[in-house]
Amino acid sequence: MHERIISIIDYGRGESELIAAALAEKLRAADFCPVRDEVAGAELIIVIGGDGSFLRTLQRFDYPDAPFVGVNTGHLGFFQELDVNDMDGFVECYLHGRFRQQCYRTVCGSVEYAGGVSTLQGLNEILVKSSDSRLAHFDIYIGESLVEKFHGDGVVISTPAGSTAYNYALGGSIVDPRLDLLQLTPLAPVNTTAYRSFTSGIALPPGLPVRIFPDPDSADDGNGAGRETLVAIDGNESRFAGVQCIEVGLSERSVTLLRFKNYEFWNTVKRKLLTP
Ligand code: NAP
Repeated sequence: MHERIISIIDYGRGESELIAAALAEKLRAADFCPVRDEVAGAELIIVIGGDGSFLRTLQRFDYPDAPFVGVNTGHLGFFQELDVNDMDGFVECYLHGRFRQQCYRTVCGSVEYAGGVSTLQGLNEILVKSSDSRLAHFDIYIGESLVEKFHGDGVVISTPAGSTAYNYALGGSIVDPRLDLLQLTPLAPVNTTAYRSFTSGIALPPGLPVRIFPDPDSADDGNGAGRETLVAIDGNESRFAGVQCIEVGLSERSVTLLRFKNYEFWNTVKRKLLTP
């Protein structure tokens, strides 16, 4: 008989290892084949932890096609819908197909730099800033148009999924994940007679990439060495020297989460961001 493999990922912190072991027992009793810390052949991937654990799992396994469900272990848990105390209810609902699937488009792109080309893929956002505390100067193109000569700390390009994360802290809009768009939100934009930058975010449709060109005139760090550009994907940062161009757009790849009967996006927003 075909084995129904369910992957359980936990990062061995606190109670999550115990929860993983108990959940594996329940899944085995329901005739599933639970595996720990690998995703090959899995029909479902369960991540135990907070949103950070979920985001790390996506990067670690390169955005698998299988759907995910998250068990929240006391973090904010925007993606992590299940309560640790309702594992029986979850197994019962999953067994009888009482769930729906929610797809989140990811953000993707590339960095052309002195060392070659590096590809980018994220669920929440891609952050681009200078890697030191000096002012960043970027030429920002939207499609083929040079729209802005940006001066400030940097920019965050976020998906609807990421709109409630870093983007929200920067004053960006909360976006319903049923909308297909990217938001480009500035980090400490400078607006003086010397420099002019947009102070609000910009919402962009699919198929219209953002291209960021660090200003070559500001590429010297004053010691004769080139300044580096910091790029962070969902909080995971890399530094690149001699960046020529960073291109970012909405990806065709998406991440699927299972949602159960009580899930509603705007109720979750209210519960996680407003309710004391
Ligand atoms: P972290 O620094 O440990 O935690 C960041 C916080 O953001 C955690 O409370 C996390 O939830 C929450 N979070 C993650 N994705 C979210 C989402 N889509 N909606 C609402 N909240 C979300 O870093 P991390 O846990 O590895 O997460 C990386 C994320 O941190 C990045 O993608 C970025 O969006 C965010 N970040 C925010 C700021 C800021 O707000 N100023 C600065 C840097 C990075 P859990 O508690 O459930 O893990």
